[in-house]
Amino acid sequence: MKPRIALIAHDMKKDDMITLAAEYVDFLRGCHLTATGTTGGRLANEVGLTIDRKHSGPFGGDLQIGAMLVEGEIDAVIFLRDPMTPQPHEPDINALVRACDVHNVACATNVSTAHLLLAQLRTASRK
Ligand code: PGA
Repeated sequence: MKPRIALIAHDMKKDDMITLAAEYVDFLRGCHLTATGTTGGRLANEVGLTIDRKHSGPFGGDLQIGAMLVEGEIDAVIFLRDPMTPQPHEPDINALVRACDVHNVACATNVSTAHLLLAQLRTASRK
């Protein structure tokens, strides 16, 4: 089965997400990708990925992805959070990360961990 990966980046981290996705584009093309609205739009336009786009994060996108995760529909989350900027939807962000911990779903919240996670998933997909 294709890995099902959720991709979310706060505004100050969106360029990092684009760079990351471009680096793993061949692997990501073979995955089922879900993203929050703006992140997904940029990934589609700038990296050419096919994305299941949810609402923008502040409008409930994080919660939509959290609900999918609870239903067992997400295998891994790349969530590039901005630790320096207060977010209006902080409770939603915490809910999504908490849902990852509750359901033991891998969640990378910075670029270094995202590299480790994507590299591992890519290796596992080749076996
Ligand atoms: P966005 O949402 O991709 O729609 O910007 C991300 C977020 O802020 O959680």
